[in-house]
Amino acid sequence: MTGAAASAGAMVVPTVGVAAKLAQLLPTDRRSAGLLLAYAAVTLVTLGLRYRQYADTSSAPWVPLARAAAAGIYLNFALLLLPMLRLTLSWQRLGGLRRILPVSQAVQAHMIAGNAIVLFSVIHVLAYAAIVMTKRLPLDAILIWPVPLTGVVLVALLALLAVFAWLRERVRFELFVYTHFLAIPIGVLSIVHAHWFFAVMLVPGIVYGVDRGLRLLWSTRTAQVDTITVDGRDIILTLLRPETFAYRAGDYAFLCVPRLSRLQWHPFSLINAPNDTGSLAFRIRRRGAWTQAVAQLQPGTQVLVDGPFASPCRELYTCRTAIVVAAGIGITPFASFLAQLENECAGSGDEPRPFDRIHLYWLERDQESLAGFYPLIARLHEQLGGQFTASLVVDTLPKGAVAPLVCHQSIDWDTALVGDGTQWQAATVFFCGPKALSDRVRASCRRVQLPFVTESF
Ligand SMILES: Cc1cc2nc3c(=O)[nH]c(=O)nc-3n(C[C@H](O)[C@H](O)[C@H](O)COP(=O)(O)OP(=O)(O)OC[C@H]3O[C@@H](n4cnc5c(N)ncnc54)[C@H](O)[C@@H]3O)c2cc1C
Repeated sequence: MTGAAASAGAMVVPTVGVAAKLAQLLPTDRRSAGLLLAYAAVTLVTLGLRYRQYADTSSAPWVPLARAAAAGIYLNFALLLLPMLRLTLSWQRLGGLRRILPVSQAVQAHMIAGNAIVLFSVIHVLAYAAIVMTKRLPLDAILIWPVPLTGVVLVALLALLAVFAWLRERVRFELFVYTHFLAIPIGVLSIVHAHWFFAVMLVPGIVYGVDRGLRLLWSTRTAQVDTITVDGRDIILTLLRPETFAYRAGDYAFLCVPRLSRLQWHPFSLINAPNDTGSLAFRIRRRGAWTQAVAQLQPGTQVLVDGPFASPCRELYTCRTAIVVAAGIGITPFASFLAQLENECAGSGDEPRPFDRIHLYWLERDQESLAGFYPLIARLHEQLGGQFTASLVVDTLPKGAVAPLVCHQSIDWDTALVGDGTQWQAATVFFCGPKALSDRVRASCRRVQLPFVTESF
């Protein structure tokens, strides 16, 4: 393969990746698709300009390719931190900007930038390997301080961070969290490797530092455990609400129990209505060691609460018509919305509702697992008539009485989302549950052309 062909080939992988993602996003999430397109255009222009700048000074394509890939790395480093501005992106006054920015896809945006850094690093390293080989440089040429040697160390650190990021669901989650701290030596070494990295990272670094600093100083508060109730596979944890803690339905917070571990912060959705004063409630499924240990806490235990932060479910406020699909514990991000709705119904009663119609599908193992939110859902179903409807779908029906709203059926999502042809025409589909089901519902949304908003945990 000639060098020019290799240069073109190196760009095929990201182009195909972006095109595939675009095809997936366009019918269901136009904001994300638009942002991805803008990102792809900026990346291509940056790479193209950098390639041309060096193409004239070198006969082989390896040097311009290595430089273009380096520009890709630094561009993505600059973008990497922006979706992680949790406090800024949760700010209610972001208002209009929230309608343009797909804030709900922040983690995915962070992952795209991270994967792009890995990909451009591979291209950068391969291009330099080609230079070393074509110039027949001795192997110890890559062990010279500072540029070649920092490059080698950077590749090793980045590989470690990337591997644990890709494996985060398969290894202990803390390994993913702790290896992300390698970002600090990676940042410092990158400045030594190429001084202009400092200029590239200055603004995003300061903005991220302020967001993180404010989280430490302002949004992290101490609360005391009020009650802990074990309910089947779940724990209902209520904390005495710190005075200044105001949130919106659908928000979540990170919890840290210093008695269990000072380093572990776990995110959980707030499930009580935002205007319930006095307490913060969480429904926590017992999964690993940390959530099991929470079940053993005593009232009065100190808990650090970092938040609140906006989840994609906040967008439920902006929709007149919505289909909500929750699987298992995935009901929690919608729970505070339902609780708030009930409080509003109990108010003046004839106030206009903020929506026209919502249908909730909640998929659970069995009727028992529905118990936590069943009374609330049944009351809303009755009070709001056709405006709020629900199908509670279980894998196995109980031997005794089957509660109203509960059924056992396999859902054909294409048919469910189309309804009678007109009723869900302008609906947005909200989803929270496992990835496999998310993919199936998203595929149906693509076929019936409905926007899809997802939260996975
Ligand atoms: C925005 C958001 C809201 C959530 N809301 C709820 C909720 O209301 N109720 C609920 O039961 N669960 C919720 N979760 C999931 C919950 O955070 C994890 O189940 C919990 O942290 C598992 O901890 P563990 O150590 O006991 O389990 P482990 O067995 O160690 O982990 C099980 C899985 O949980 C995830 N996880 C583990 N630790 C963390 C962490 N520190 N941060 C993020 N994810 C982690 C990983 O995917 C991991 O594979 C939410 C997650 C997110 C991202």
